[in-house]
Amino acid sequence: MLRGRVLGEADRVYTLLTRERGKVDAVAKGARRARSAIGGRLEPLAEVAVSLHRGRTFDVIREVRTIRSHWGGLVRPEAFATAALFAETIDLFCEPDLAQPEIYALLAGAVAAVAASPTPSTLVPRFQLRLLHALGLAPADDACVRCGGAFGENGAWLDLDAGGLGCENCYGVRGDAHALSTEDIANFRALAAERGSGAALLGSMRVTRAADDLITWHLGRRPKSRALMHEFS
Ligand SMILES: [Zn+2]
Repeated sequence: MLRGRVLGEADRVYTLLTRERGKVDAVAKGARRARSAIGGRLEPLAEVAVSLHRGRTFDVIREVRTIRSHWGGLVRPEAFATAALFAETIDLFCEPDLAQPEIYALLAGAVAAVAASPTPSTLVPRFQLRLLHALGLAPADDACVRCGGAFGENGAWLDLDAGGLGCENCYGVRGDAHALSTEDIANFRALAAERGSGAALLGSMRVTRAADDLITWHLGRRPKSRALMHEFS
């Protein structure tokens, strides 16, 4: 479950990320009542099995069964803020009723990792770059966004007008505000890699900022939950 909001006196609308249909808004009748079993099981970011009935405006949630709840790990403020950022980012990028099973798998894995991590906010850059890859939005990490040339020994520059990385010939004169060293570029690549294949878990300071800037560039704004994260990172 990505997000819940109040609907009328007794109901709630939940935004669910499903494996089969992607993002779905569904109403739980009576979920605001204290004894509602459905409302009780729809914790933020719990993985649940739901049976849905097609309604006029929203699908109606008939039944909820918990598959995995990470609530014990997510009640810590830093973990909750990180998981909330993941949920909001996916909510902002994903269209309703478009199945994206790799994004479902990414979120399920990321939430489990956050719940288990002693330092959850350090998982943000890898999540951001993996998400951009899954969406087909990740910039090339081996060729200049402007000329297509390789990066030299002085690294690359993040171009936030073009949403990509540029080479020294094209960007070297711009100074180092958005510079990435050769090590940073290797880190950028490893953070986005699938688990096992030389993947990195932690971003360098500059790559952490670059990943966040790329997400903001694609969305045209920063996710609201990002503000919460500043307390921790
Ligand atoms: Zn270039």
